[in-house]
Amino acid sequence: MQHYKFLVIGRGIMGSAAAMHLAEATGGVAMLGPTEAMAEDSVSVPKASHYDVGRVTRIADPDPFWSGVAKRSIARYRMLEEATGQKIFNETGFMWADRDESRVTETLETTRNAGGKMSRLPHSEVVRRFPYFNIERNVSILYQDGDGGTINPRAYVAAMTDRAIQLGADLIDGYARNIETTSDGVQVKMSNGEKVTAGRAMIATGAYAAFDGLSSVSVPLKTNKHTLVLVEVSEATAKGEFAEMPSLMSQPHEDRIGTFTLPPLQYPDGKFYMKIGIEDSRPPVGNMDELNAWFRSGDDPELNSQLVQELTTLMPSLDTSKWDWLACVTTDTPDRRPVIGLIEDGKICLQVGGNGYSAKSGDALGELGASLLLEQKWPGPVPAIELAPDRFGNG
Ligand SMILES: Cc1cc2nc3c(=O)[nH]c(=O)nc-3n(C[C@H](O)[C@H](O)[C@H](O)COP(=O)(O)OP(=O)(O)OC[C@H]3O[C@@H](n4cnc5c(N)ncnc54)[C@H](O)[C@@H]3O)c2cc1C
Repeated sequence: MQHYKFLVIGRGIMGSAAAMHLAEATGGVAMLGPTEAMAEDSVSVPKASHYDVGRVTRIADPDPFWSGVAKRSIARYRMLEEATGQKIFNETGFMWADRDESRVTETLETTRNAGGKMSRLPHSEVVRRFPYFNIERNVSILYQDGDGGTINPRAYVAAMTDRAIQLGADLIDGYARNIETTSDGVQVKMSNGEKVTAGRAMIATGAYAAFDGLSSVSVPLKTNKHTLVLVEVSEATAKGEFAEMPSLMSQPHEDRIGTFTLPPLQYPDGKFYMKIGIEDSRPPVGNMDELNAWFRSGDDPELNSQLVQELTTLMPSLDTSKWDWLACVTTDTPDRRPVIGLIEDGKICLQVGGNGYSAKSGDALGELGASLLLEQKWPGPVPAIELAPDRFGNG
């Protein structure tokens, strides 16, 4: 039976980051998870929330926790790109247009405190610099120049995985069926029936953590259904008119929907698509079967047409006639911060609850979890107790 010092279960955003930081500190690290979760026909293989080529990245956030981990992670994108050859970051900036002035003021202050270069943009300046956007006159507009834009979440996971391997970590293709604690660590039964043991383990199984029973501590996780619309644009348009387009979060007035929009990115089919998704949560998934089904075929025709309509309003000159949709899941906690904390007498670190914000900040989130497992100094930005698994009164 294989034995490791540290076994990370889940090779997504948080798991690959944690494995990288563990491997940086010590030998004897392994990461367990399916290599091609979404390509598998078998419905039982756990899927992932990072199978896409674009996520918004920004330091901007009203919560100092999220701006802090974003700042720390974004600062290391280029180093990771250099170390692994993966292209992660598309630094085209970030715009936040919001009807809620108090949220805007709070976001501006928090972002600046975290070191983000953010300023208010008068409406006339938006019209001048970004003529393709049609932003309402009566909303406040923030712009983060630099340290923002989009990241490729699959490339980010690949880069952190490659880095972990460069640093000596092992990769195990498969998934965990159960974990038992032993007198000196943990024993994990894998999908192929084999067992692997470790001194300590991390559970970073994303949306599956709500249903997989791997953790003995139950955390109130809500797994939200998402459908995104991808509008096809020509390569010439993507590389011409929209080449410098920032990613955009928009909270317009009540008769419209709050959305995030990404500039055109090239997808695996070679075509360029601009993506729009909704900010609000959709009804949650109820069980593992529903979760697997949603990941593979989740669609919401009513929302799709709302999204196409909203993109047409936000960008009136854009041809939205050719579009497709994509399904995904986010995992929320009641306070919209992740769970990162030790359970089972410190033998296991639970690291779940991305809350729809974790792709951009994977590096720093993984570093937090790894520091707990390694008994190293917690690198902030909030006290560890604020992310503890038992903070919701569960157990
Ligand atoms: C529509 C949408 C838009 C988003 N937009 C943004 C954005 O703009 N900016 C941003 O920062 N974030 C965004 N996110 C959030 C981000 O993608 C997630 O927060 C992030 O992927 C969560 O990381 P994770 O490691 O928890 O989960 P995942 O990335 O899903 O990784 C979990 C991994 O665990 C594996 N796994 C599950 N069960 C097991 C098991 N039993 N054994 C082994 N492995 C297992 C899975 O196969 C998967 O690879 C968005 C998410 C969605 C769905």
